[in-house]
This record gives sequence, C-alpha cells and structure tokens, in this order.
Amino acid sequence: MIKPYNFYSGPAILPEEVLHQAQEAIHNFSGTGLSVLEISHRSKEFVAVMDEAIALVKELMQLDADHEVMFLQGGGSMQFCMAPMNLLNENETAGYLETGQWANYALTEAKNFGKVHIAASSKADHYTHIPKQLDLPADARYLHITSNNTIYGTQLSTTFIDELLSKNIPIVCDMSSDLFSRKLDYNRFGLVYAAAQKNFGPAGVTLVVVNKHLLGKVTRPLPAMLDYRTHIIKESMHNTPPCFAVYVAMLALRWTKQQSIAEIEQQNIRKAEKLYTAIDNSMLFQGIAAKEDRSLMNVCFRTADEATDEKFAALCKQKNIVGIKGYRTVGGFRASIYNAMPEQGIDVLIDAMQEFETSLH
Ligand SMILES: *Cc1c(COP(=O)(O)O)cnc(C)c1O
Repeated sequence: MIKPYNFYSGPAILPEEVLHQAQEAIHNFSGTGLSVLEISHRSKEFVAVMDEAIALVKELMQLDADHEVMFLQGGGSMQFCMAPMNLLNENETAGYLETGQWANYALTEAKNFGKVHIAASSKADHYTHIPKQLDLPADARYLHITSNNTIYGTQLSTTFIDELLSKNIPIVCDMSSDLFSRKLDYNRFGLVYAAAQKNFGPAGVTLVVVNKHLLGKVTRPLPAMLDYRTHIIKESMHNTPPCFAVYVAMLALRWTKQQSIAEIEQQNIRKAEKLYTAIDNSMLFQGIAAKEDRSLMNVCFRTADEATDEKFAALCKQKNIVGIKGYRTVGGFRASIYNAMPEQGIDVLIDAMQEFETSLH
C-alpha cells in the first residue's frame, strides 16, 4: 500500500523513522524483550525515556535554570484552565489576545479563576488576521497569546512575539501547533504549553514549560494533579504518565534535534512560501488569511464556490492526498504542513492544484 500524503491538522504526520522506531519498541523496548506498552513506568528503562525527553526539551529550547519542563495529560485544553488556576487570583486580571477559537476557549476557561481582559480580538473578522494594537491594563498578571491559530491559518510573527516579550508582563503562550517550528527566545516566556499531536508527537501528552518564579502566588487551594509544582517535583511521574505517548514524543524530539530547529525553520519557510506562491499565482484558488499574518504551519485556501471545492476534494482523494478539508466553520481547504511534512508532499499538492485548474479550462 502506498502511504497517503498526510495533511491532517492533528493528530498529524510524524517522521517515518519515528514510526519505525515506535513499532520496534512495541515488541522489544530498549532491549528488555518487553513491549513499551507493558513495562512499568518506574522501570529504569522508562525513567530513562522521561529523563531524555525532558533533557531534549531543555536543550532544544535552550532553557535556563528558571524554567521547568513537564509532560502532562489533558491536552492543550487542560492548560486553558490549569494555567489561570496556577497563575491568577480571583481579584486579579489577565490579558488575552483573541486570535481564534482556541484562544477564545482559553479566555473562557480563565474567567472561572479571575478577571479576563481581552487585549485585542479579530473575532469580528472571523479571525482572518492578527490584531496588533493591544490594550492591556497596567496590573495584568500575564498576557495569554496563541502563537499559531491552527483553524484559521494565522500565526504571530517572530517580530511581533519579540515585541510582546519586551513588555513588562509574563507571556503565557499556547504553542500547540507551532512549537519547535522556529527559533524563539523561550527563556523570555512565563509559560509555554503545547499538546504534542500537532508538531512533535502523538495525542495523549502535553508539554508545559514554566518559569518557576511565577508559581506559588495564588491563594486558592490547588488539587495536587492540577498544581504544576507537583509535576515539577515528581519529574512528571507523580502518577502513571502516558508512557507510549511520551516515548513517541521523545523519539520525535530526537529527530527534531538531529534536523536542528534552525534547519527545520528554513524548511518550513521554504515549504510555506512554495505553497502560498502557488495559491497567489492561481486564478482559481485564493488564500483565506491576511497575507501578512499567514501561518507557516496551516495553509488555508479555497476556490470561488463550494461545488468547485468539492470537485477539488475529489481529485485530492484520487491523488492520495488526505486530511486537507478545512475546519467546518471556515470551509475550503487547510493543508497542515508541520515539521515532519517533507517538501515532496507540498509538490504533490501543488501539482494537483495546477492539474485541477488546467482541467477547468
Ligand atoms: C489543537 C489545539 C488545542 C487543543 O488541543 P487538545 O489537545 O485537543 O486539547 C489548543 N490550542 C491549539 C492552538 C490547538 O491547535
């Protein structure tokens, strides 16, 4: 069977060699003769996996001693409540940049724990661009941003993120769909979280990096499982971690290190530019997001009408291109081209688009 070109938004494409290594470990994990699925998380072999995963994150993000790394469960969505629960008192205010549905969910959850101030929003424009004029109360505890808006295909530029990091306020960032896609000064963030299943692993594990000086400032009692300090002290082993998901994420982190983030970033720029150029040169396809805010990870586009969209979807199916349907509230197409997507996948998609356009004349 020929493997399809996988443009799913998440869970999403993983490097082929990671899949092979994961397959091997299902039968013989780390020379034990046991499966990674049936071995104790307290075994020295698994503890070594967790240690290596944490070490790889510290190395890839070049973290200083103030920043702690955790592998947690509950997905990106759990962080929507866990972050304010740990950082925001009831009488305090947090700023939120509302750039998409996930950002909206995050601020909605935060309202359970304190006051939420929307610093800027592009909701009225269907989240097609990133608002850059922020209105922030002077006493805001933190500013929450979503670096890449998976559904709408917009992304905060590195320049804009740097500008926000220069403000005198901790930045809490949902990087679920673009962590490890580019070089950033991660030590300047207060908290970064990312569900693994978009850009660096399978579903079931979420990475959290926090500046430990932000913790211990809320007065509410925190359940142990929802207190970051528990997981920091117990090195993500307070309870049984999702062992297989952590193992596969660790393999993907090894792969990321081998490629290097600098090289991955150059590839991501090249891949996205190629696809956006094809869209801009087309008389049929049009991009959905504002040009200056286009995402390097999720490329959203459509034709002039739904009937034509459906015909192109049928051609994609024929060409073994999968996962390219746009989110239901946006429509059209969304090609998710994460780190593990080879440039060849982009070429196949562009060929299909050009063949389709020619066939209509
Ligand atoms: C997918 C996604 C989430 C939600 O992650 P879950 O693991 O499904 O809870 C949150 N934020 C962003 C930016 C996402 O793309």
